[in-house]
Amino acid sequence: MSTTLDLSAANRPQVTPSLAGMTRNQIRDCLVAAGLVDEKKAKMRATQIWRWVYHYGVTDFAAMTDISKELRAALPGHFTLARPRVTERQVSVDGTRKYLIELSPGVECETVFIPGVGRSGALCVSSQVGCTLNCTFCHTGTQALVRNLTAAEIVQQVMIAKDDLGEWPSKLEDRQITNIVFMGMGEPLYNLDNVADAVDVISDGEGIAIGRRRITVSTSGVVPKIEELGARTGTMLAISLHATNDPLRDELVPLNRKYPIAELMDAIRAYPDLSNAKRVTFEYVMLKGVNDSPAEAKALVRLLQGIPSKINLIPFNPWPGSPYECSDWATIERFADIVNKAGYASPIRTPRGRDIFAACGQLRSESVKQRASEKRRLERETGAAS
Ligand code: SAH
Ligand code: SF4
Repeated sequence: MSTTLDLSAANRPQVTPSLAGMTRNQIRDCLVAAGLVDEKKAKMRATQIWRWVYHYGVTDFAAMTDISKELRAALPGHFTLARPRVTERQVSVDGTRKYLIELSPGVECETVFIPGVGRSGALCVSSQVGCTLNCTFCHTGTQALVRNLTAAEIVQQVMIAKDDLGEWPSKLEDRQITNIVFMGMGEPLYNLDNVADAVDVISDGEGIAIGRRRITVSTSGVVPKIEELGARTGTMLAISLHATNDPLRDELVPLNRKYPIAELMDAIRAYPDLSNAKRVTFEYVMLKGVNDSPAEAKALVRLLQGIPSKINLIPFNPWPGSPYECSDWATIERFADIVNKAGYASPIRTPRGRDIFAACGQLRSESVKQRASEKRRLERETGAAS
């Protein structure tokens, strides 16, 4: 017997669109397209709704008290304010919070809140589900790319964390999420259009209002997109360097074969507005016996000469089956010492949330694995063939 799947629009379940995550223009266009406001008033209405969505974080149209009763009553017939479902939430003993978010059936991304970074805390967001690049130390790299996230899905990660931290209205004082880092799953520069739209929403002063200088986008080195990132978003740049010579970087970050270190450095120098107030962060994961010698620390300092930089030494976070070990603490300190003496302050990023697998790509893989073993157990119990 064979079955066919009918995917024609008429037979697909209709999903009511959520305004949560949309850009200003999208909100305006949707209101007009739904026939709820006329063109002339659309911008003003969109601005009013924007404040409720992104400053107050409301989840019910009834709360939008400065909007006419008629419009308030009509909106739920066309839109929702829903966020995607959180399928797993874990809180570490050190306050790190990790969310696994279901974007569409079977498509999940992860988001991590890390307290004590920046002025108060940083939210680490994903830009893709999986990654097409295969950095050998990264667990996300072992997962096939499922897809790019939309701008709305990136913004919704911030909204979900703010919901959980009770951070609405989006006040400027005493907030917990002061910084955003694009260091979750995926390569943001392979999804630049959506990253740029998401940055516009997140940084907008009438909403979530996390300034562009407090948003950092990390790349493994997609050279042709680096200057464009700066020009379009005005965000801070982070580079996943991890090695100071091409043969080693070719191995750790295979994208280096396409864009070697010298080209990468030229692209970084061209990043708009670099200064001591706007430095590039260089990430360097400490791998035992691989890239952690004093000679490499000195080479790192030489390589960064003339570039306003910060260095983040990241203790390698092992994952099951990973081909590396984390450098010994003494080795990391010796490396840090050389870098410190060259004028870079406190560069070791303390490991966070290790008890909840808060490293790049790890929660998703852990829970996928748990679910796979759960499935096998059920199959065994029901006698179904696998
Ligand atoms: N794709 C982008 C952003 C996501 S990765 C990039 O590569 O920059 C974010 C950071 O996490 C990168 O610096 C990456 O090197 C680091 N990382 C990945 N796996 C890690 C692990 N197992 N332990 C420590 N850091 C890791
Ligand atoms: Fe992708 Fe970044 Fe992981 Fe490399 S380190 S595989 S670019 S997510």
